[in-house]
Amino acid sequence: PAILTVAGVSKTYDSGTTALSPIDLEIEKGEIFALLGPNGAGKTTLISIICGIVTPSGGTIDVMGHDAIKDFRAARRLVGLVPQELSVDMFETVLATVKFSRRLFGRSGHDAYIEQVLRDLSLWDKRHAKIMELSGGMKRRVLIAKALAHEPDILFLDEPTAGVDVSLRRDMWKLIHRLRTRGVTIILTTHYIEEAEEMADRVGVIDKGKLVLVERKTELMKRL
Ligand code: ADP
Ligand code: ADP
Repeated sequence: PAILTVAGVSKTYDSGTTALSPIDLEIEKGEIFALLGPNGAGKTTLISIICGIVTPSGGTIDVMGHDAIKDFRAARRLVGLVPQELSVDMFETVLATVKFSRRLFGRSGHDAYIEQVLRDLSLWDKRHAKIMELSGGMKRRVLIAKALAHEPDILFLDEPTAGVDVSLRRDMWKLIHRLRTRGVTIILTTHYIEEAEEMADRVGVIDKGKLVLVERKTELMKRL
């Protein structure tokens, strides 16, 4: 069953740049889907629209029965976004950051859930550390913990391993697979073909704002 349906979604920014031509896409519950494409292809624009941060020029989006454009507040509760840039207060602790994010969505308590997330991300021992004290890899994991704080059904990761060395990239891949076993549907963007191949059940290739191909991974390798 589809957890997310994108139908005819397009975006032309006020600057006149057409970032997306009408896009149609269905994401199944529990899958890992990679949006693969070069810089400027429209990947960030598409996930920003689905997450209710950017308004599309046209089209409709359904997230688990909610109209993600008209009713973006309801849809936002169902999704978590891990942005490319470090969007946290560096002077705050890991635990306070995650708890604050959870409260923002009107979810309180449930310390067992937060503990599980921090343990999954190997951050539990660092929960009382200020984010500025953490390594680069740990800071990235804090962004994931923050995005998971309100128990979203779909997790979006925008270029999760851009600028990361090979061993950290492998760690990140393992981690994303572990999150999926917790029942989270995962959509990530990448410009690394190996990452799409390693991570995803299905891959959508996006180029110049057009979704040119959506394939099961095994089929993709035959096509490229
Ligand atoms: P919208 O149509 O969603 O309102 P705008 O075209 O008004 O978006 O741009 C939103 C903001 O993004 C503006 O402040 C603009 O300066 C900035 N911006 C413009 N071009 C780019 C770009 N290529 N990449 C990232 N941000 C940009
Ligand atoms: P990707 O994530 O694949 O690198 P983006 O979605 O960031 O692609 O960008 C797609 C196109 O839209 C690019 O041409 C980019 O310069 C443009 N763009 C992105 N954000 C904005 C913005 N806020 N305002 C104007 N143009 C933008």
